[in-house]
Amino acid sequence: MQSYDYIIAGAGASGLSLAWKMLHSPLSEKNMLIIDQSLTPTNDKTWCFWDATDPPFAELIYRKWNKAEVNTFDSRTIELLNTYTYYCLRSIDFGRHILSKLKNHPNFDLLEGSITDLSFNERNPILHTDSDSFKAEYIFQSCFDPWNNTGDQPRHPLLQHFVGWEISTSKPVFDEDVFTLMDFDQTFEDGIAFIYLLPWSQTSALIEYTIFSDTLLDKKKYEEKISLYLNNRFNLKPVDYTIERKEFGKIPMADRPHKPWYKPNILNLGTVGGVTKPSTGYTFKRIQQQTDAIVKDLLSSREIRPQPISRKRFRAYDLWLLQIIDRHPKDALRVFNHLFQNNSLDKVFQFLAEESSIKNDLKIMSSVPNIPFLRAIWETSNRLKEI
Ligand SMILES: Cc1cc2nc3c(=O)[nH]c(=O)nc-3n(C[C@H](O)[C@H](O)[C@H](O)COP(=O)(O)OP(=O)(O)OC[C@H]3O[C@@H](n4cnc5c(N)ncnc54)[C@H](O)[C@@H]3O)c2cc1C
Repeated sequence: MQSYDYIIAGAGASGLSLAWKMLHSPLSEKNMLIIDQSLTPTNDKTWCFWDATDPPFAELIYRKWNKAEVNTFDSRTIELLNTYTYYCLRSIDFGRHILSKLKNHPNFDLLEGSITDLSFNERNPILHTDSDSFKAEYIFQSCFDPWNNTGDQPRHPLLQHFVGWEISTSKPVFDEDVFTLMDFDQTFEDGIAFIYLLPWSQTSALIEYTIFSDTLLDKKKYEEKISLYLNNRFNLKPVDYTIERKEFGKIPMADRPHKPWYKPNILNLGTVGGVTKPSTGYTFKRIQQQTDAIVKDLLSSREIRPQPISRKRFRAYDLWLLQIIDRHPKDALRVFNHLFQNNSLDKVFQFLAEESSIKNDLKIMSSVPNIPFLRAIWETSNRLKEI
């Protein structure tokens, strides 16, 4: 059986982030295998995040904005971001750039193939494909959900699910300096739902209809909402635009305990590693925190000591917000309304990035209706120790 120091199973956002950091550290002397069912980069994911300093993968940033629009029920506001910038990069640029560098490095083997299993014998973790098996000191995997088949369901099986259209228009309609973070659907037909819009130029944009709920809709339903929005907001009829590309996403918003290991010496990375911020679905920046920590541990001791990305108090806030979204969605909408109306977007971003002080957390929390939170705290009191 072929043996490596490390195997990266899954070459998506987390696998390639880790490989990139290893490539730029003394760990590049190790022998590594990177395996994915497809190593052809595709333009199927648009990753956005906010950052107050130097963004990760700065050279690959596709667009950035310092003005954001948020539309709640009572107001429509465009706000200037002073502390943070909102960045976006495309999976195709990310994949192309990183894979091309890895291909040229003698210590990184790239293999296209379907992983059928990950196991552990008495000494090593082993990766299996239909035709081969490979062993390593550590396997970093972003392919298999460690909670599958455990019978342990999350208390709030919520998802952030969306369909996006990348469109081009014949006339200029978009303000390319302003992205729309949330434009809430006033009908409340599908629960908490909103339009998210990233303008690439005056004549092209990515527009997504996003819902926080536990049930996926028929794809047509999301598309009707996008079409309706383009009509109502920009007076665009289907003949006025071309759909260049579609994007679909389903991101877990689950309240599960931290489960770092899939099996001994097989570390869970990225989404299956529970890195997603449960109350927002944002994952990309947190993948950078997770992969930075892995490289640091390997360099300092060869032993990985995984920690949850969020400190305990932020895990508690997420639990309460999920409880409100899941059990009392109308209250959640009131919470979002007050959150955006009573705080600057910089402060909201700081809070959601878990970069705020306890004093600021309390300020944010006192700016939203307190009954839903007090009820959520009461309803989840027995869950706090589990998260
Ligand atoms: C459309 C979309 C948009 C998103 N936008 C944002 C955003 O704006 N901001 C943000 O923070 N987060 C966003 N996310 C969430 C998150 O950042 C992404 O899902 C991110 O790709 C997660 O990285 P990952 O490495 O965990 O998973 P992936 O990127 O999905 O990588 C997993 C890899 O494993 C491979 N694989 C799986 N099973 C096997 C197998 N059996 N054999 C071989 N290979 C296998 C897959 O081919 C894939 O390449 C988005 C998610 C989606 C789906």
